[in-house]
Amino acid sequence: MITADHVGKRYRGGVPALTDVSLTIREGELVAIVGPSGSGKSTLLHLMGTLDTPTSGTIRLLGHDVAAVSDRTLSAIRAHWIGFVFQQFFLGATLSAVDNVATGLMYLGVPHRRRRRRAAEVLDRVGLGHRLDHRPAEMSGGERQRVAIARALVTDPAIVLADEPTGNLDTASGAVVLDLLHSLHRDGTTIVVITHDTDIANRLPRRIRIRDGAVVGDSTGAAVLDGGAR
Ligand code: ADP
Repeated sequence: MITADHVGKRYRGGVPALTDVSLTIREGELVAIVGPSGSGKSTLLHLMGTLDTPTSGTIRLLGHDVAAVSDRTLSAIRAHWIGFVFQQFFLGATLSAVDNVATGLMYLGVPHRRRRRRAAEVLDRVGLGHRLDHRPAEMSGGERQRVAIARALVTDPAIVLADEPTGNLDTASGAVVLDLLHSLHRDGTTIVVITHDTDIANRLPRRIRIRDGAVVGDSTGAAVLDGGAR
């Protein structure tokens, strides 16, 4: 689904944000990219999401070298194949839940009525079928993030990229959002979660650890937790 081959990224005038990252994300995986602040996680997410291009090496998304295709193709790849979820939700304050989710379909030429119907279906999928007409201010943080996840899913993307999706949530709401990601994963969605939180990463089936712009670990299966077996 995504491959990074010796990827480096250096911002103008700065130290390298990524030095030499190689990894593969396969279809249907639920993966954490985990590391401390400044380790290069967001940079990697931006590259995987075609929001930026590497300064060295290659990123391939569903077989396409993102540095080699036109801006137009990149926009199409983003609109059709990638769903983004951000820590800050980025919902329209004046829009209802259903309209916020329907915006995800705006650039795909789906007629208005069909957009809203599909948005309502996806909100139901994330457990918010009873909140269709609520605005963000009328919802809890956890509900807002579930709206944002519904917006990411409404195009039926090949991959969901989530940047600290529980970062602004209390523990209980964060757990609900993580449960939702697990449930989407069970249904076959490919999901990459960026987090600085090793507890969250340890709850996901695969963890890619990154530090100082390089991959320093990649493990699957149950996490070995400090303090012995669970
Ligand atoms: P993380 O998401 O793990 O906190 P980032 O990918 O945001 O890490 O940052 C990695 C490094 O790149 C940091 O040293 C950061 O200061 C630097 N960096 C990130 N974005 C930019 C930018 N747009 N311009 C210059 N330096 C940046």
